[in-house]
Amino acid sequence: MDPITHPDRLGVPLTEEQIAIGQAARQFALDRLLPGAAQRDQAGAYPLEFLEELAGLGLLAMKVHEDDGGSGVDNVAYLLAMAGIAEGCASTAVILASSNLASQILGIHGSPAQKETWLRPYAEGRLGPASFALSEPHCGSDAAALRTTARLDGDDYVLDGSKMWITSGAHAGFHLVFARTGPGSGGISCFVVPGDASGLSTGREEDKMGQRASGTVALHLDKCRVPVDHRVGEEGRGYPIALSALGGGRVGIAGLCLGLAEAAFAEGLRYAADRTAFGKPVLDFQNSRFVLADARTELDAAWLMAIRAATLLDRDGRAPMASSMAKLYASEVCDRVVDRMLQLHGGYGYSREYRIEQLYRDARVTRIYEGSSEIQRLLIGRELARHAAR
Ligand SMILES: Cc1cc2nc3c(=O)[nH]c(=O)nc-3n(C[C@H](O)[C@H](O)[C@H](O)COP(=O)(O)OP(=O)(O)OC[C@H]3O[C@@H](n4cnc5c(N)ncnc54)[C@H](O)[C@@H]3O)c2cc1C
Repeated sequence: MDPITHPDRLGVPLTEEQIAIGQAARQFALDRLLPGAAQRDQAGAYPLEFLEELAGLGLLAMKVHEDDGGSGVDNVAYLLAMAGIAEGCASTAVILASSNLASQILGIHGSPAQKETWLRPYAEGRLGPASFALSEPHCGSDAAALRTTARLDGDDYVLDGSKMWITSGAHAGFHLVFARTGPGSGGISCFVVPGDASGLSTGREEDKMGQRASGTVALHLDKCRVPVDHRVGEEGRGYPIALSALGGGRVGIAGLCLGLAEAAFAEGLRYAADRTAFGKPVLDFQNSRFVLADARTELDAAWLMAIRAATLLDRDGRAPMASSMAKLYASEVCDRVVDRMLQLHGGYGYSREYRIEQLYRDARVTRIYEGSSEIQRLLIGRELARHAAR
């Protein structure tokens, strides 16, 4: 019942191109990613073998202009593609989310030489994924408190410090690293650090609850030298550069949540129809129908909020409140939907034999990364206070 397979159901006009992109992503996810998703989850195996195909579908640099080798799609198409991929594999979806965040930044703020060296080969699938390296061991929400330093030494910057929770960190062809060139949030700069840069090493793979195939590691920068021309944008502009891409990033994560929740909803509906108790299908109990009705209602509302945010971003270039609301609501609805659908499975929902168990684990982190629920509320509240002050 999701808007990718039933594009008329929400009553929101979607273009043929947006629908086609969402459907192609979903089909790829169901045909290619879903079959091995449970094994990759158990082994914590990164889906590197699919990167070239994802590039071929134009999914690595979706919001990069076509002149720079990207797909140049709008935020609505990006949302649908992320949902389509997440329906088959949430780990691959988050890999795409961080890769698209990094490539979008390079597309907007990178120099022509940086785009030729990094962006084009990356978009063509020749560099693997990209990483967005902002969080550190001591700070995630308060990213402006980062401590990694970049010291100018002749024609190079020398980077020292550690990054934490970096999706694709061990596989990325390039990393966008945010480091301190001066004090305060105005003293943060952004750098392209090649995956094989000397002085760069990766920590062990995090043994996570969910999205276990997304390759989350720490990055260690120990006198890591990059030439001055690897700085992205002006010195001291790193923080606004990072923040500028987060609106679209949040819409992408809302899409991930929706695709994941759609997969859970389909599992719950199917199981309730197949399973009998007290001589009738579980689906025939009024409670089951109420549970499904609540889930479907909240899912549709979350879709509408996400499409609104994407539409406003496409129209105005920024939509801070709508993007935060979309991410906040979609991640919290996703969590409620997976929980209710697991409950419909009874004891079998607690077994790895059924997909809902993995979906339940995969969903939990969506309330934490790309700005936790608390940070989204803080941002929405800040916008509200700004309106009140006018
Ligand atoms: C699987 C995974 C993948 C990730 N991928 C990446 C990545 O690719 N790149 C990257 O840079 N980062 C990544 N992250 C990091 C992620 O963005 C951070 O974990 C997140 O921003 C939260 O930061 P923290 O973990 O340091 O929690 P903290 O900031 O320490 O927060 C702890 C708790 O306090 C709450 N809190 C903090 N400040 C406030 C406040 N002002 N008001 C109210 N409550 C508050 C938080 O909501 C949270 O509940 C990833 C994380 C995970 C788990």
